[in-house]
Amino acid sequence: MSRLAIDIGGTHLRYELIGETEVCGNMSSRDSELAHFIGTMIEKYSDIDAVAISFAGQVHDGTILSAPNIETEIVDIQAHFESKYGIRVRIENDLNCAALAESVYWGEENLVALYSGTGLGSGIIEKGEIVYGSRGLAGEIGHIPYREAPFACGCGKHNCIELYASGSGIEKWMAHLDCKEPVDLDRLFRSGSESCRSIAEKYIDALLYAAATLVTLCNPKIVVLGGGVIRHNPFVLESLNARLGDFALHAAMEDLRLEASHIENASLEGAKLLLDTM
Ligand SMILES: [Zn+2]
Repeated sequence: MSRLAIDIGGTHLRYELIGETEVCGNMSSRDSELAHFIGTMIEKYSDIDAVAISFAGQVHDGTILSAPNIETEIVDIQAHFESKYGIRVRIENDLNCAALAESVYWGEENLVALYSGTGLGSGIIEKGEIVYGSRGLAGEIGHIPYREAPFACGCGKHNCIELYASGSGIEKWMAHLDCKEPVDLDRLFRSGSESCRSIAEKYIDALLYAAATLVTLCNPKIVVLGGGVIRHNPFVLESLNARLGDFALHAAMEDLRLEASHIENASLEGAKLLLDTM
């Protein structure tokens, strides 16, 4: 039998088929509607008996609650494919999947993954299990209230921390302040324009606030930082290491480690881990 792991975000759909035939792929998520992709794979590889999906949106009990950047025709993915093909299906938020993979990688059962890419999100692992909340929304750190911004977040509010500590936030500020630098945190820091530099400074302050909130609220042993913005700017981790103690509860800082993610695609790795539990 074969098992299929999928990671779908706003830009990419990545997958790995594990079994007699081993196939992996990476395509634009805009050209591959999720349900259509799953249906095509099941028909092509008829021995697939389990599918695990890491999904960049809000998910609860096998159903997609919202997905601002992903086209989905079917929201009750789990029930739909289980009844249509008689296979096992599990769909999880991508940051929960990433946190699960980080937990296994670092061998740590109390861990938070804080990822800053297009958006800002976190996944919380407590005693080796994902922390969900009542509707699967725990860990939505990107949408905690922070400061009023002159534009809206994807969720509709104007004061989300994601508007400051994410790639999309940086782009919104650059457009608002008419900053002509390349969209790159390091270049913004080195800009001759004070308003461009202020975007980078706002980014670091907001990320510190998010990390300190998670440390104080969840008391993890390790905070793993990942996502495109952090991966391309290793100095972000140094800034956080130097200043987190000024923001977070001191007692929660004891024995705390900040680490940069070493996993190439943690969400897909997390989806593969889910397959092992199905
Ligand atoms: Zn928001």
